[in-house]
Formats: sequence, C-alpha cells, structure tokens
Amino acid sequence: METKLAMAGDEIIEEAAGLLKSGGIAAVPTETVYGLAANAYDVNAVRSVFRAKGRPQDNPLILHISSIEMLYDIAESVNPLALTLAEAFWPGPLTMIFPRKAHVPAETCGGLDTAAVRMPRNRFTLALIERCGFPLAAPSANTSGLPSPTSAKHVYEDMNGKIPLIIDGGECRYGVESTVVCFEGEDAVRILRPGAVTPEMLREYCHVVIDSGVLEKLGADAKVISPGMKYKHYSPNAEVYIVKGTDSDISAFLKSVSVNKIGFLGFGSEILPDSVTVFPYGKNAEEQAENLFSSLREADAAGCTEVYVRMPDTAGIGLAVYNRLLRSAGFRVIDTCRQGEDARALP
Ligand code: AMP
Ligand code: MG
Repeated sequence: METKLAMAGDEIIEEAAGLLKSGGIAAVPTETVYGLAANAYDVNAVRSVFRAKGRPQDNPLILHISSIEMLYDIAESVNPLALTLAEAFWPGPLTMIFPRKAHVPAETCGGLDTAAVRMPRNRFTLALIERCGFPLAAPSANTSGLPSPTSAKHVYEDMNGKIPLIIDGGECRYGVESTVVCFEGEDAVRILRPGAVTPEMLREYCHVVIDSGVLEKLGADAKVISPGMKYKHYSPNAEVYIVKGTDSDISAFLKSVSVNKIGFLGFGSEILPDSVTVFPYGKNAEEQAENLFSSLREADAAGCTEVYVRMPDTAGIGLAVYNRLLRSAGFRVIDTCRQGEDARALP
C-alpha cells in the first residue's frame, strides 16, 4: 500500500474525511501523540486499526469527539462531575470512562461495557471529526509496544506501507498520551494513566485516587480496570534502565558500564565519559515529556544497545513521564549510589 504524507490543512481535510467515511484509516495529529484514526462506529475500520498496529484485541481504543452532543451519543449516562471536568479540560488531554450505549461496537472498546472518550486540542483533528460526523477511535499511531509517535516522521517509520494517509501537524505539544480517569461515585476520579492533566489540576475539582498500577508492576492475575495497563509498552529495541542518584554517582556508574554504544538521557549537569551518546531529555518534566519518546527512537536509530534514563521528578506531568519510563524499562531502576553492591541486580 502506498502511504501518502500530507500537511494538515484545508487542502487535505476533504480527502481525509472521505477516506474515514468510507471505512479507511488515517494517522492524525493531536496535542498528546499522533493517533491512528477510524470511524469508532465501523467495526471493520476499527479492525484495520488493530491490524496496522498489531494491537491486542482486548486493549480498548479512545473515542475522540468534537462536541458534547457526541459524548451523549456514546455514553449511557454522564454524571455532573464529568461535565465539570469536560468544561475545565476539554478540548485537552483528559480521557474519561463512561458506560457505553449498545450501538457503540464492543470491538472498539476491547469487549468492555464502557467507552473512553476525549476531545483533542488540535484544530485540524477537531475540524476533521466535525466533518466526519462520527467519533474517531484513535490509539497512538505506533506499532504496538514501541515508543509512541510525537511527529509525523515517527508515524511514517512504523506505518509506511500499512496505512493510506498520514497527516503532518508538526510536533505534538505534550509528547505523552492523555490522562485516563474513571469515576468513583459523584465526587472522585481514579487515575488509570497519568498525563498532562495532572493530579494537582484534577484536585481543584474533586477527590483524586491514583491507581496502584500507575507506578507498580501488575501481577499476572491483577484485576485491571484499563487493559492497556498490563502490556509492556513504549519500549525501543535497546534495553532501557532508569538511573537514580547524584550527578557524580551517575557519571561514575556510566563509566563502569562496559557496553559498546550506551545512550543516555540526562539533565545536562552530568560529566560523562566519551563512550556515552547523549539524547535530548531536559531539566523539567514538561521538557522530559516532550523528548522522552523521540529520544528513545533516536537511540535505536543510532544503534545503542542500552539506554540509561535519569529518574524524573514525579510532580505534575512528571508522574506521566515516570509511568511511561517504568514500562519502557520493564520496571528496572538502578540506584547508582549503592556503591560496591551490584546496583544492576535489581528487579
Ligand atoms: P492508547 O490508545 O495507546 O492511547 O491507549 C488507550 C488507553 O486507554 C489504554 O491504556 C486503554 O486500556 C485505555 N482505555 C480505553 N478504553 C478504556 C475503557 N473503556 N476502560 C478502561 N480503559 C480504557
Ligand atoms: Mg499507545
């Protein structure tokens, strides 16, 4: 299949809407990461998305809407807190889970009786959903398991030859996927996946519980509310390790690693041996969220076999950075100040 790359704009919107209306799929920009979009109500189109990504069938898709009317078409009931949060954060990186109406295909929702819904903050994609007149089911537009795409180039790397159209809307503003919440009664939400809408921001409106799966490895028989939480995720081919410690401990540790090509994502304050190739990361959580996935992809392209990433501060969007990083690293955290011990022999 020929894959067309087009800039977001009036020239392409008609063609993209036509493609989606006839059951086709297309990659679209959002403020979080790029999405691989299909008509959420068309089972065959949704199947094409799962196929192109190699995504497990039980991992549900998020339905992207352009108006509150579309939410009422999907959700069996909408509580007042959901409307308050929609007012506060939509369009934006907050996904809320609702009981779904019977006409929403089970396949779109991974077989669950709930649907995850959000309104993305991207002018082109909002206009495209409006033009289509139906919600777009869109997971991240990467091969399942690889780091999520934050530019059209990343989408092209994974999807060239597999999908007919990629729309280039530039680099994603946040670089990590949306915050996913479900409701616990009338005045509380549970964060299933952290994102750019932070616990601090949600606490202005309601009680906030952070699900244990956000920072902990789920056991094989753990009950998961959100199936995506159980999959190994966001991993480049290189082995990823999180490194904890001071600048000098980390520098000393990296000197001791005897691997040909080591990649490193740090704060910029470390003094590093020549054996280390540095990729962009950043001093604060916002920069780290923007850079994490693209730097993991770059480390692969540069032929690194191991990548060490500095432990982020987990405040604000840093919780989302750490949540993604833990999964990229298979939960391996090395404490570099454990001098004399085998710091790498951690789970
Ligand atoms: P992605 O499509 O890669 O952004 O991932 C979407 C995330 O939302 C995954 O972690 C899904 O498991 C989660 N999700 C989507 N729909 C639901 C739902 N109905 N209930 C719980 N989690 C959901
Ligand atoms: Mg994804």
